[in-house]
Amino acid sequence: MARLLVKNADYIVTMNKNREVVRSGDIIVEGERIAQVGRGLSQEGPFDKIIDASGKIILPGLINTHHHLYQNLTRNLPSVQSSGLFHWLTTLYDIWENLEPEDVYVSALIGIAELVLSGCTTVSDHYYIFPRGKKGLLEAEIRAVQEIGVRFHPARGSMSLGREEGGLPPQSLIEREEEVVEDYLRLIQEFHDGDKYSMIRLILAPTSPFSTTVKMMRETMAIAEKYGLACHTHLAETLDEEKFCLEKFGRRPYEYLEEVGWNRPNVWLAHAIHLNQDEIKRMAKDGVGMTYCPSSNMRLGSGIAPVVEMLEAGVKVSLGVDGSSSNDSSHLLAEVRMALLSQRIRYGAEALAPTQVLEIGTLGGAKVLGRDDIGSLEADKAADMIFLDTNRLEYAGAHLDPVSMLVLCHPANADMSMINGEVVLEDGVLKNIDLESILEKHRRCSTNLIQRAEKKGGKIYANSSWIRAFD
Ligand SMILES: [Zn+2]
Repeated sequence: MARLLVKNADYIVTMNKNREVVRSGDIIVEGERIAQVGRGLSQEGPFDKIIDASGKIILPGLINTHHHLYQNLTRNLPSVQSSGLFHWLTTLYDIWENLEPEDVYVSALIGIAELVLSGCTTVSDHYYIFPRGKKGLLEAEIRAVQEIGVRFHPARGSMSLGREEGGLPPQSLIEREEEVVEDYLRLIQEFHDGDKYSMIRLILAPTSPFSTTVKMMRETMAIAEKYGLACHTHLAETLDEEKFCLEKFGRRPYEYLEEVGWNRPNVWLAHAIHLNQDEIKRMAKDGVGMTYCPSSNMRLGSGIAPVVEMLEAGVKVSLGVDGSSSNDSSHLLAEVRMALLSQRIRYGAEALAPTQVLEIGTLGGAKVLGRDDIGSLEADKAADMIFLDTNRLEYAGAHLDPVSMLVLCHPANADMSMINGEVVLEDGVLKNIDLESILEKHRRCSTNLIQRAEKKGGKIYANSSWIRAFD
């Protein structure tokens, strides 16, 4: 087992029980785990490798608990730049139904590259586009994430309530419940690892109340309970969804969740914006967690989730960049900052401190994913950490508080990242992929995908009236 010393970091933000920050600190890594965090550890050799971290601040790797990586193929689509969720979705479904495994693979490489560069070491991605007859889509995504070397919680999404049954998605993206259950079992066998320091854990994740049958929700929970898996879905994202739930199920979104038996501690929800105070209390009591996705929520005009009230009530809160088409970015450290700023709009400047949002982005993510082996830098935790150079333009003049500096100043990229004891990013460069050539492939995939959709649907997506004005 390789023994590695990270020495002389300016600061180590441990996120341990006492939230200690170690000045001029060292970390000993043994294999995939942290053996020791402290000062003067150079004496504890021999070491196979020594990393000089002087001039750096080290944080636990950030955890992203909600995303749709494939959506970076359709970022900034002109016709939905100013659309709310339902119009945005119904436009984009018609493009996404043309996805091929190669598109999913290349977009996952790009999305994960963005996440690693922005400080993320653990990702949950919600993948739910399964055009009829296409195979190997989630597998393509998993292959890409494993190539870069990120800790991964792939969430197997599904849509079973199509337009013909009063749902939102087209029939071409609808799967039968039995098919989905069969696929769950296959994927669990093939990929799921529930052990400590696991690099891949499967999540079961029917997509949303307006695209999923009640039967799918119930059957999913039964499988999850049997195999000890976590479950995930979108809930209470917009007022349109609330209206849909009241009309279709005669219940508010959280009541619907209770009705289908999903108000359990192995569940977390993306968004959870439109909840009343009583529902927040029930969510805390049920142990249901959430992902706060401020950029996406503001971009789609969905609202600002009641995160401060949730934290006060004891709800598990984590952070997510959400799908690239509704954020147009996947910068997780930027999302940490956005979380703070957006909550201050709702609750005022004193409601949330910079260090609290960093906590949500690390320990909060670990809790939501049901893990006690990531989220902090201390003995026996997985060796997942990011290094940021403190001597950079963005931080000039901000050094009196080097921890809050990372949140309040313009979001920087990580200079180095270690995941499971392996360095995957060094001097700002991803070690396991050639980003230049993947960017080129990605551009091709994105253009071809939109052209295929235009040809099939007889629509034009590529033109922007704003650009035309300058022709
Ligand atoms: Zn989402």
